[in-house]
Amino acid sequence: MSFEFIPTRVFYEPGVLDYPLGKTLVERFRRMGVTVTPTASHNRITGIPGNTPAAAYREAKRTLVIGVRRSEMFQSCKPSAHYQLPLVTSCPGMCEYCYLATTLGKKPYVRVYVNLEEILGVASRLIQERLPEITQFEGAATSDPVPVERYTGALKQAIEFFGREPNGRFRFVTKYTDVDSLLDAQHEGHTRFRFSLNCEEIVDKFEHGTPSPEERIIASGKILEADYPLGFIIAPIFRFEGWQEAYRRLMERSAEELAKRAPSGWSSEQLTLEFISHRFTSKAKTNILGVFPNSSLPMEEEMRKFKYGQFGYGKYIYRPEEMKEMKEFFHAQAKCYFPLAHVEYFI
Ligand code: SF4
Repeated sequence: MSFEFIPTRVFYEPGVLDYPLGKTLVERFRRMGVTVTPTASHNRITGIPGNTPAAAYREAKRTLVIGVRRSEMFQSCKPSAHYQLPLVTSCPGMCEYCYLATTLGKKPYVRVYVNLEEILGVASRLIQERLPEITQFEGAATSDPVPVERYTGALKQAIEFFGREPNGRFRFVTKYTDVDSLLDAQHEGHTRFRFSLNCEEIVDKFEHGTPSPEERIIASGKILEADYPLGFIIAPIFRFEGWQEAYRRLMERSAEELAKRAPSGWSSEQLTLEFISHRFTSKAKTNILGVFPNSSLPMEEEMRKFKYGQFGYGKYIYRPEEMKEMKEFFHAQAKCYFPLAHVEYFI
């Protein structure tokens, strides 16, 4: 199945017309028959319809905003990277547990920037400031950057920029599979391409508008064949009837595809694995139920352990004995299917 993102409406800051990419995008969407409207600021968009939280969310996910990023600074991105690389915000997917639904507000519209050279210029300065250390940038802190890549080419440009930077590294994560345009990028091993995976039972129920696990696994094989450093994030992990077998199958199928596609000399030593168990905050639960009133996400507080978070609000995680069982299970799966992989964490 193809997940071509075609926005219903596009807003643009007039300043984007000063950049070749901005001009091309505005003309392209007009030619496609999409409603294209100027807006004063890419931060305050009025004109996205929707009277209920659910309708506003859906309409926002079909809205693309094209802007110019003026700030000379990037947000920090501890502990996974030093900085966020701001290329895209949000994504057209509608995963019920997406944390961006909490952080991006009620209308998480998709936003892209057209001044890529300037953005990468800031990255270059930040790399210089930390020499001789290596500086890591995360490209998916507030987005899934792949669905809009067909329009902007921003990821490819960033990947090739980091390919030329001996002291810069790039990483991002995606659930999307439209990766062919990135296969010939000159990455020089400086970009780690991570795929977010889950078992079919979970993707079908909760990750609306995203490719199937099988499609993601096939895309990860292509990325490995193109010699990128690769990683899998299995998240969020749920306990349900048959969860062990479902996740075991996912790991087995991933290992089978990678074995087929791996370049000669590749070993699972070069693979990173991240495991994140499902957790929720009271605020996220309220938001999720506003947008997905019939959600079947397991969010019963009494079934979980309450844990205070570092930012003052607490979250509901699985109980300690359940966590222990899950952690042991995933470490054992990693050992079995990717014996040398680097398990970054299980949380
Ligand atoms: S694909 Fe990622 S960014 Fe997009 S809705 Fe799902 S979780 Fe959120």
